[in-house]
Amino acid sequence: MTTSMQNNEEFLVDSHCHLLFSHFKSVLPRGDASSDFDEKYAVDAVIKRAVDANVKYMLLIGTELSDVSELRDISDKYDNVFRTVGIHPLEAAKHHQLYSFDEISGAIRDNCKHVKSVGIGEIGLDYHYERESKNQQKEIFNLQLGLAKECDLPVSIHSREASDDVADILKDHPSVKGVIHCFSGEKRFAEKVLDMGFYISISGTITYKNAIELRNSLKYIPLDRLLIETDSPFLTPDSFPETPGLFRKKVNEPAFVAHVAKGISERLDVPLQEVMYHSSKNFFELFSKAAAYINR
Ligand SMILES: [Zn+2]
Repeated sequence: MTTSMQNNEEFLVDSHCHLLFSHFKSVLPRGDASSDFDEKYAVDAVIKRAVDANVKYMLLIGTELSDVSELRDISDKYDNVFRTVGIHPLEAAKHHQLYSFDEISGAIRDNCKHVKSVGIGEIGLDYHYERESKNQQKEIFNLQLGLAKECDLPVSIHSREASDDVADILKDHPSVKGVIHCFSGEKRFAEKVLDMGFYISISGTITYKNAIELRNSLKYIPLDRLLIETDSPFLTPDSFPETPGLFRKKVNEPAFVAHVAKGISERLDVPLQEVMYHSSKNFFELFSKAAAYINR
């Protein structure tokens, strides 16, 4: 697929991260009290550390229409950074109020024409934080799945305490393919979406001590359907057994996707190289527009 893959040099891909500076700032109070925060977490520094950690490609995930231009600036600047555009379920009510469906469709459609815009996301349903906006979430989710079909792009799905409804809605859009981001471990949901041809992405939660359901479900995900992600700046992996919990206080960043791959490799007892190979290959199979871009 890629030159590097032909040479059997494995690398990592962070299939889901948020690099907007405001996000990084928003998690600062949680930990890492370094005084040089601004410089350390400037997007350029974060991307450089990722590349140094063999994270060769990153997918920046949109959550609302207002982040489109900032995501475009970053992904246009870096050859190895791609982006998606989409409305997160927790932003659905706001967009419902602010825009007509025509306006939303127009903005997403326009953005999807761009060569570095390789998917629609993150989209889905979140009943953990917002049950009251259920109907608006469903409408915005359906709208964006229709756009994914129209633009022939994969979707990045967010599902929290809503897996039955997510699976039901996906069934209404059989030609749309995508990935369930930050899979929580619900086996029945995994089976349903795998049947529909979806990929499943594992985040740093695989390293958490209490992620028992996820660890048990991992073996049911075929290696050729597995993606890895950080969901930066959230969900920092907990990968330092000598200081449990300490790492999680740090701001997560794409470089740490290496810990996710390592966590999967240890728990599945398959070589790390194999996890790297499959998750990278799967990424470019699903996000084929990114593959076309790097092979251009
Ligand atoms: Zn996300």
